[in-house]
Amino acid sequence: MANNRVMVAGVEVSLDHWIGGRRVASVNRFANASPIDGSDLGAVAAGGQAEADMAVAAARAAFPAWAALGAAGRLPILRRFASGIMTRAAEIAAVETADNGSLLAGNLHRMVPRAAQNISFFAEWALGLNDHAIDHPEVVNNVRYDPSGVAVLITPWNAPFMLTTWKVGPALAAGNTVVIKPPEWAPLSCSLLADIAHAAGLPPGVLNVVQGIGEEAGDALVNHPDLARISFTGSTDTAKIIGQAAARSITPMSAELGGKSPFIVCADADLDAAAQTVAGQYINAGQVCLAGTRIMVEASIEAAFLEKVRDAVDQMTVGDPRDPATRVGPLIHPDHFARVAGFVERAKAGGAQLLWGGERAVAGALYFQPTMFAGADRDDEINQKEVFGPVLTWQTFVDDAEAIAIANGTEYGLAGTLFCGDEGRAMRIAEQVVAGTLWVNCFFVRDLAAPFGGSRMSGIGREGGTHSFDFYCNIKNIAVRKGSFAAKGV
Ligand code: ADP
Repeated sequence: MANNRVMVAGVEVSLDHWIGGRRVASVNRFANASPIDGSDLGAVAAGGQAEADMAVAAARAAFPAWAALGAAGRLPILRRFASGIMTRAAEIAAVETADNGSLLAGNLHRMVPRAAQNISFFAEWALGLNDHAIDHPEVVNNVRYDPSGVAVLITPWNAPFMLTTWKVGPALAAGNTVVIKPPEWAPLSCSLLADIAHAAGLPPGVLNVVQGIGEEAGDALVNHPDLARISFTGSTDTAKIIGQAAARSITPMSAELGGKSPFIVCADADLDAAAQTVAGQYINAGQVCLAGTRIMVEASIEAAFLEKVRDAVDQMTVGDPRDPATRVGPLIHPDHFARVAGFVERAKAGGAQLLWGGERAVAGALYFQPTMFAGADRDDEINQKEVFGPVLTWQTFVDDAEAIAIANGTEYGLAGTLFCGDEGRAMRIAEQVVAGTLWVNCFFVRDLAAPFGGSRMSGIGREGGTHSFDFYCNIKNIAVRKGSFAAKGV
């Protein structure tokens, strides 16, 4: 058995794959550094075709018994899995922060507890899946949510532990087995997830982790012929590539992708709450797909609101994500830093007005100042493309029609935020904004029972509550003629 283990933030983490209930090494390995200070976190196994084949085979072998357990049989195991996550919450949070630079307090108090809920919530929900019958004059339709097989789950680096469990929870609860391909820029917390699954008693092969580079390990997995589902969260460009693989085998795919979400502030809104929430868009250095990155303000309150936002942003400390006072940590990787800085330089060169920020925050490190541009045209790159950094744009509107036109004027449709004092107006605007989720007078509230996903270039499909099972299950209708058994019986 492979045993490439390192200590990260005081926690022992395996750098190998987890396949069929054991650690598996690879000859090839890839480097992984902490975005906090560039320190080496150990060379991680880089999987390819062989590891993908091995993992899918292990997941296929484990599938019949896991499916046969039924939701009630899986529930106690998945409950132990969820509580195992909470038992190790501090360790998971510390490893995640070291690996991707996200805020330690946020990981500990929000992301890891949420990850545990992702497992337990869907395990409980699955108990009621097959309760559903639809009456018809001739037949009773017995609607069944059957397990579908092996699901490949591909996750991004900005919140890997939470986002992986958001897929693992419903996939396992549905009776599927899974192969996870963690992000190569933040691969470590998924390794802990495998340890926790094992300790909770998940049978070998039910949950597998293949580490590696997207174009190698990820590519081999999504092109495997034996998949039942592919669930992907990441960039729109990668989704187009994975979608081609899914199309070849007609494998259902869900995709949660990028966004350039509008943040609309009406004149009669609670401006203090709105300003605090605008500042909150910089959290995790803006590396949040749901972030409202286009701030749109009703023109009549522009000056007053700008001062409130400026005050709120001034309070935001940029620095080490392990410090509880920090609100804006580092960008994940030097390549990503260069990408973000490139957007900022092009916006400056294009004549956009820099309201604040625009520079590296700490010499020689991956911290970028919270940045706001005004005066860019609606069609300029900075108002159209996802930066995935602490970079927002500022625009004004004079009436609802203009607000809606600006809001809908990108290729994306992931989310939106609206602060408004009038319920009727709020609902009229909200109903017309193209988005998978539209928050009114709040932000980032995500109910696990509610549908979640993106429209347009922001994704395919919805997950959450029953929508997750609509995706992960083979839904079947057993239509039984009324009286047909009774007639024989008497
Ligand atoms: P981001 O821009 O957020 O890094 P990516 O879409 O590049 O998003 O990466 C998200 C996930 O997709 C990562 O786990 C990455 O390894 C994986 N990935 C990247 N390219 C491919 C590919 N061609 N096939 C399968 N997975 C991929």
